Formats: sequence, C-alpha cells, structure tokens
Amino acid sequence: MTAFRQTLKSAADLADAGLIAPGRAAEIARVEARYAVAIPPAMAALIDTNDADDAIARQFVPDPRELDRHPSERTDPIGDGIKSPVAGVVHRYPDRILLKLVAACPVYCRFCFRREMVGPGKANALSDAELAAALAYIRAHPEIWEVILTGGDPLVLSPRRVAEVTAALEAIPHVKVLRWHSRVPVVTPERVTPMLADALGSASKTVYLALHTNHPREMTAAARAACARLIEAGIAMVSQTVLLKGVNDDADTLEALMRALVETRVKPYYLHHGDLAPGTAHFRTTIAEGQALMRILRTRLSGLALPTYVLDIPGAHGKVPIGPQYLAQTATGYAVLDVHGQSHAYEDCCAGPR
Ligand code: SF4
Repeated sequence: MTAFRQTLKSAADLADAGLIAPGRAAEIARVEARYAVAIPPAMAALIDTNDADDAIARQFVPDPRELDRHPSERTDPIGDGIKSPVAGVVHRYPDRILLKLVAACPVYCRFCFRREMVGPGKANALSDAELAAALAYIRAHPEIWEVILTGGDPLVLSPRRVAEVTAALEAIPHVKVLRWHSRVPVVTPERVTPMLADALGSASKTVYLALHTNHPREMTAAARAACARLIEAGIAMVSQTVLLKGVNDDADTLEALMRALVETRVKPYYLHHGDLAPGTAHFRTTIAEGQALMRILRTRLSGLALPTYVLDIPGAHGKVPIGPQYLAQTATGYAVLDVHGQSHAYEDCCAGPR
C-alpha cells in the first residue's frame, strides 16, 4: 500500500501519484475543469492501481463520461432549491430540515447528487449572517423536530465551529435531534479527533451521525476507530450507501459492507438508488437490479444489517422505499412471498373494530 501525504486535487496530482496514466492527464483535466477533484490520503492508499476496475478509484478518479449529460439528468436532482426558504435551509418534510453548512468536502465523489453545488468556486460556508437567518427560521417553526446538518460535508468545519452550531441548536427547545451527514470518518478518519467528537456531542439533544460509505474496503481499521470515538462520545450512528455500478452492485460486496457497519456499531439505514445527477449515468443501475440485490440480501442478513432501498423522487417530492415488495392483495387476503420466493396465502384476520 502506497503512503500518500496530501490530498490529490488535480489531474496532474493523480498522474504524479500513479493513479492515472500520464497520457490521460489532458482528458481528466477537462473533467476537473467542470467538477471538483479531491482524493485524500486514506482513500488514495486504498486504490489498487493494478486493477483497472478498482471500486475505490471508480468512486473518486474522474472519468470523461462525467461530461456526457443524459436528457433525464438534472442540475438539482432532488430539488433542494425548490424547497429552500432561506440560504442553507431545505424544508422538504414538516418535522425536519436540512441545514447545509458548507459547500466543501474532503473528497469529491464522481457520482455526487450535489455535484453542481459543491467544490471550490461554489458558494462557500454559510456566513454568520446566513447562519443567524437559518437559526431564526428554525426558531420560528416549532414543527422542526430534527435538524440534519449537511453540505458538502459539515465535518470539514473546525471543532470550534461545530461546537458553536451545536450550542446554537441546543438553545432551541423544540429541536430534539441533530443529525450530521458525513463521509469524514471513512475518508479522513484522522479528522475525528476527541475534540471533534466532543464538539458533536450534546448534553441536551440526541445526536446522530449518518456515515456515507459505499464499499467494505472503506471500513479500514482507522475508519472503524474513528466511528468508535464518535460512538463513545455519545453519538448514535447510521449509514447511507449509494448503489453504484462497478462499485457495489453485487450482493457479496453489499453484504460485506453491511456486516462491517453492524460490527462497527453503525446501523445500515439507506441504500440510495443513484440520483439523476449530471454525468452519472455510468454509475446507475436499474431499479429492477437494485430490487434483485435487496432480495438476495434479505436471504443472507438479519434485519439489523438490512438498509432500506430508497429513491429520492426528482422534483423535491421526497424519498420513498422502492421495494422489493413481498405482499400482493388477493380476493381472500394476501399472497406473501418468503425470502426464497415461495408464495403463501395469508388471511388478514382480526376481531373488527375496538
Ligand atoms: S462527500 Fe457527499 S456531498 Fe461531498 S462529493 Fe461526496 S457525495 Fe457529494
């Protein structure tokens, strides 16, 4: 395994590091001019340069196909902009909001659903005035029970800034849950210092961290130790994974990832169907393929290790589970499929009204 010291941020860096052939630097530079590039040392070290189909490289090394935009793809695939009442806030569901604190990430994923909004040159971190306006919005909406802190990746902020945001939200009585979304514990585990873990913790609110991870090789010893530091600071952890062709679209890989997460005390939460982000068609599976994978996972994994397969409906219509379905209505009740695909009649029998 090669040791890398710094984040690789350009086609030239990737060529120097041996992660792309020097002859590819010009075509990769064209992608870099459009979409940000960053591969931190922990992820660069995981790339197997002898494997042309390496799952880690595929997630982070730019690909010229990113410049091919399919007609169905959208600049804002899940409609954040439509549901944004003030800068940095997305209010899509009544009881929760997204608070997008920064537009920077420690790594730039080639399939990112917010790829048009993140990276150098995009609107940066929320200013103090914008944060104050976002907090005023939350205070004025007592129905907001959960604040989902995202970006970009909010854990690129300093522990001091994280603590300030936590303290500001602690002062709003109707907010009960803070949920941070981050790739940091996996891609830059060294950032998860005891100081950052303390800054994320709260004596008065329940704090979750949703870890974004897509491949079992990402769950290194350092990543698992970073998760342990968070959990021991009182933070509950769930995971989200994007279903990606050539990365994790096979049952063995997904099974290994979900087992690694549960072993790390992280509950698998969502398996996202790929969003219609520009230039990401080469990453998307069909929904039928995703459902077939979920069917296999259900034969192998306990409910604790099974994520929910979801689609974020384009146009800001929200997230829904997309199967597979095990229940079909019949004239007398239901036909229920078991995990082996065998159908069983079920009579929906109860004693009637209370
Ligand atoms: S870390 Fe998240 S927001 Fe940042 S590039 Fe990756 S998927 Fe996008």
